[in-house]
Amino acid sequence: MAKRKQIAIIGGGITGLTAAYYLQKNNVEADVTLFESSAQLGGKISTVERDGFTIERGPDSFLERKKTAKTLVQDLGLEYRLIRSATGKAFILSQDELHPMPAGAMMGVPTDMKPFIKSTLFTASGKLNALKDFVKSRTEVDGDISVGHFFRRRLGDQVVDRLIHPLISGIYAGNIDDLSLKATFPHFLQTEQKYGSLIRGLQKTTPSQQTSGKKQGMFLTLDGGLQTLLNGLAESLQCEVRTSTPIERVVKQNGRYVIDVAGESESVEADYVIATTPHEVTAQMFTDVSFMDDFQQTKNTSVANVAIAFDEESVKNLPDGTGFVVSRKEGYRITACTWTHKKWPHTTPEGSVLLRAYVGKPGDEEVLELSDDEIADLVIEDLKKIMTIEGEPRFHIVTRWYNAMPQYTVGHLDRVKKLESQLDSELPGVFLIGNTYRGVGLPDCMDQAIRTVKTIETLES
Ligand code: FAD
Repeated sequence: MAKRKQIAIIGGGITGLTAAYYLQKNNVEADVTLFESSAQLGGKISTVERDGFTIERGPDSFLERKKTAKTLVQDLGLEYRLIRSATGKAFILSQDELHPMPAGAMMGVPTDMKPFIKSTLFTASGKLNALKDFVKSRTEVDGDISVGHFFRRRLGDQVVDRLIHPLISGIYAGNIDDLSLKATFPHFLQTEQKYGSLIRGLQKTTPSQQTSGKKQGMFLTLDGGLQTLLNGLAESLQCEVRTSTPIERVVKQNGRYVIDVAGESESVEADYVIATTPHEVTAQMFTDVSFMDDFQQTKNTSVANVAIAFDEESVKNLPDGTGFVVSRKEGYRITACTWTHKKWPHTTPEGSVLLRAYVGKPGDEEVLELSDDEIADLVIEDLKKIMTIEGEPRFHIVTRWYNAMPQYTVGHLDRVKKLESQLDSELPGVFLIGNTYRGVGLPDCMDQAIRTVKTIETLES
């Protein structure tokens, strides 16, 4: 009888947990062990409960449109705990004023001309530049180009700096003039190439519900926050889960892999290794191969977020909406702020306000070196430019995310493909997945895990 296969999953963030879950759910005939270096599972997902508030230190929700996350919640039997984000106006902070997001804008690209023309966010010449998209030639693309290059050429600098850049930074926390179009928003390029104009193309392909104004929230979380999803996953897993177990090295030996746990003489053997650790950590594990070195071009950026709780009466003139992003090239330290008590009312007790702001952007990453109090103070100082904050906060929670946001710079997808083909030939059975490679959103990470499970199933069938 063939020996049962051994599968090692390295990293207990959402990617590793999803892989473990679907290996089990799909009845893959193997013994699975998940290794996590820290004492808790979850990686970047981290929910804190304090004084009746539910505060997310990392991600706060996932996009419903990308189906995998909701499906996972359903598979875990947790659908009844899903909560949809409240709708409401989103704003852009520019020149000390909050401007409503022009209705119909898709990632900042106008599709509904009336609100765009009426928007107070842009000057007349900024709008005119954007409208030139209708008559411009198609973008000539040989390989990959930057997101910034594409949008600046089509819509002009002002729409990019005031709207598109801050929205995209909310996902990638980087510089859009370095970011790969192919790896992040390929559909914008495809639409432009097909219809000749990006705006016209989006107008033709956007479902009318998205522009009609009768929107429902696009994001989902669970009551109790994303921790509820983690708990559901952790409780359902029957495989061996080893927390506080950092993996130091993985070496190919006789067609299998020997996995060394840091600080222990013990080694574990596996037929398949699913490494979901950040790429710079992964590269240190696979020191016998040099091709991971090429991948070191993928840099990470650092951000911090600050959750600040107030009594309701301390915060006045808060506009009716869910929050704002901050235009680039202006003198603010904050890059975005969610009025969490409005977007996610379940997170905040009655009579309270919960704000969650981000700081840290290319060129201002040293902000993370300030103390918690200093960061909270500078956030409040920026917020006071657009709202009245009179009382002291009840508390604040600052979370620094060093090197947490991988930058998909131009050529990223080609580098990923090259890496995958080298893995295939030199380290068969090893899969490198997670937010460094094929998408940073939670559903993208889950997708990578599910694809890997399917590949293993195919190899084993
Ligand atoms: P990680 O979560 O980083 O997991 C990797 C795991 O590997 C960690 O648990 C780590 O401890 C472990 N590890 C490291 N070294 C070793 C080792 N040597 N041995 C064993 N284990 C090791 N996405 C959304 O969809 N919605 C959002 O709202 C959202 N907001 C975000 C906000 C912030 C501040 C950040 C940082 C990200 C956000 N994202 C969001 C992105 C998303 O959270 C991440 O892309 C995703 O959680 C990454 O999951 P992962 O499992 O690939 O990696």
